[in-house]
Amino acid sequence: MRYISTRGTAPTLSFEEVLLTGLASDGGLYVPESLPSFTVSELEEMASLDYPSLAHRILLPFVEGAFESEELQSIIDETYAVFRHSAVAPLVQLDHNQWVLELFHGPTLAFKDFALQLLGRLLDTILKRRGEKVVIMGATSGDTGSAAIAGCQRCDNIDIFILHPHQRVSEVQRRQMTTLSGPTIHNLALEGNFDDCQAMVKASFRDQSFLPDGRSLVAVNSINWARIMAQIVYYFYAGLALGAPHRAAAYSVPTGNFGDIFAGYLASKMGLPVAQLMIATNRNDVLHRLLTSGDYARQTLEHTLSPSMDISVSSNFERLMFDLYDRDGGAIADLMAAFDDGDIALSEGAMANARMMFASHRVDDAQTLACISEVWDKTGYLLDPHSAIGYAAALSAKEKAELPWVTLATAHPAKFPDAIGQASVGTTAHLPLHLAGLFELDEHFDVLTNDIAAVQRFMSEHLGA
Ligand SMILES: *Cc1c(COP(=O)(O)O)cnc(C)c1O
Repeated sequence: MRYISTRGTAPTLSFEEVLLTGLASDGGLYVPESLPSFTVSELEEMASLDYPSLAHRILLPFVEGAFESEELQSIIDETYAVFRHSAVAPLVQLDHNQWVLELFHGPTLAFKDFALQLLGRLLDTILKRRGEKVVIMGATSGDTGSAAIAGCQRCDNIDIFILHPHQRVSEVQRRQMTTLSGPTIHNLALEGNFDDCQAMVKASFRDQSFLPDGRSLVAVNSINWARIMAQIVYYFYAGLALGAPHRAAAYSVPTGNFGDIFAGYLASKMGLPVAQLMIATNRNDVLHRLLTSGDYARQTLEHTLSPSMDISVSSNFERLMFDLYDRDGGAIADLMAAFDDGDIALSEGAMANARMMFASHRVDDAQTLACISEVWDKTGYLLDPHSAIGYAAALSAKEKAELPWVTLATAHPAKFPDAIGQASVGTTAHLPLHLAGLFELDEHFDVLTNDIAAVQRFMSEHLGA
């Protein structure tokens, strides 16, 4: 499988090369040159597979040339064996035609484990084979950092530096990062906000001269193709459980950077019957406004009860735009250049294409809390604030109410005790046993000033030999 950039001019890469890079050199994002697809009879056979076998079936064509079939299966088996539910991604029914797909049984209790546990193991295998070392650098406002560290903590060939805004992430989220320790793990608490962290990471990717020769940065945010790829699998897993290929389902996805829902779009292009993809947003509703008006306009960031969806633009949306514009990289390069200077409008044709598959719904904090408490009252099921946004959006889809709806439950409620408290459900969510000691463990992090030279000096001084 070859990978091409959404902006049309960067070199075409192999899977191995795509795994080891961040943005394409033309500023675009990598996507597969073509997608594998499954016939009805193949899907019928796949319906009986367990999660790791299904993952192997779906992922093998994407990693062709980099991993042999058996090697891939053993990496996948190892990856999903660390999940705490033997179904890996169980479906739970909450109402007539309403299911939630629990994606929070991984080590850090958020769906990001599905991709980052796999990414860490794929990277480790390739680096050992090549005898190389890389540096992971990422910024986090919560879930990405802990999932990335948990995914790479046992990889000797990866030094990992995760920046978070000092005193601005929740205690559970901070402890999930800072209680993981080892010579290659570095949590940097930056005296600034999340945007400062992200700006520093972006600038460091652009100019990597602060690293010694032979080392380069690898991205762990959802611009890394391998993350999107891993997320395709659970759409198939849920869809097949609910009757695919003979019955279509609709999916509601709590959305921030558009990585998770983009994987659902790819699943539909690969043959899974998908009736609709619902973009569920919080008050940071750039995509909801885009879908309703056609205008793609940045907004200032608002802090909500669903912090992992607090974004001002969704970087993976460019991957969808590439398809909406018939894979015309030049058109995307022009649009994104215009977007750097201000708001843009998408063409009528592109918007019509988008609306064939996507709907959107925005849920504010009050509605989020109301959804958590209503579902608790009716079913005794506790949704986390992100999943509650997805569920509220699924319930809003009145015209498609006859379909089976699957809401992606992206995090465990115990990650967000404050929001659960505010929902006044009269209960608290307990951390699963493997994290029960989280509040007693020692924390490891360094507080750094908001200065890129200081951060880069710290990094070069703390790289492993
Ligand atoms: C990251 C995250 C999201 C948003 O996912 P995207 O792929 O960025 O759209 C939603 N919910 C939770 C809990 C997350 O951690």
